[in-house]
Amino acid sequence: MWRGTSPVRLHRAVAGTVALLFPPRCFLCAGPVDLLEPLCSACTGALPRWEEPGCAVCGRPVGAGREICPQCSVAPRWYSAVRSLGPYEGELLVLIRALKYGGERALARPLGELLAQLAGEEADAARWVTCVPPDPRRLRQREHHAAEELARTTAGALGLPYRKLLYKPRSTPPQVGRSRRERTVALAERFATLRPGREEGVIVVDDVYTTGATAAEAARALRAGGYGDVLILAVAHTFDDAN
Ligand SMILES: [Zn+2]
Ligand SMILES: [Zn+2]
Repeated sequence: MWRGTSPVRLHRAVAGTVALLFPPRCFLCAGPVDLLEPLCSACTGALPRWEEPGCAVCGRPVGAGREICPQCSVAPRWYSAVRSLGPYEGELLVLIRALKYGGERALARPLGELLAQLAGEEADAARWVTCVPPDPRRLRQREHHAAEELARTTAGALGLPYRKLLYKPRSTPPQVGRSRRERTVALAERFATLRPGREEGVIVVDDVYTTGATAAEAARALRAGGYGDVLILAVAHTFDDAN
């Protein structure tokens, strides 16, 4: 589970897991924290963050003087913007893994608060906060859905309601006997809305933004379902496709 993390970090993380119970200790440095705070203010302030403003749409790092990255200037998109705290590395990676796979649900609150701060005025147009629906098979193994925990805490910090708006249709229709075009459409329609929208803005929260395909599909389903502007908030962003 902790593959790729240093022994020191592993030790800290394990110590943090135990210390979260009692007495209150910071999950990352095991230093003292206020009651119910999983992270100390020093560790929260030292999380990896983007230093420069990135692409105005997707947040990808762009050169000085550029507002929009080459990808966003050519590709059509369903969401208005993607915002993330920082790169998927260091302590952000440790925290996301602990939240997703280590059962450290208390970490969702400080991360959700940071996402709410990050959204700032861009959240003004939103009526709902939601998340990408989980893959049912993965959820059974993991027992809780990290993106939903983050969406709920972000909503709380923004003073907006969390609402489950998207679902994943249970099964993909059989592919045999379908044309290539039909198959492509069936694969693309991975999410659907639970109720029709009335042009309300929506914030979709996720833990890690990777290729953008999932976020784009969530935004497409919301727009197709009658919702307004979609803002994507993610704790971390990877740029694997650029490597
Ligand atoms: Zn700390
Ligand atoms: Zn971009």
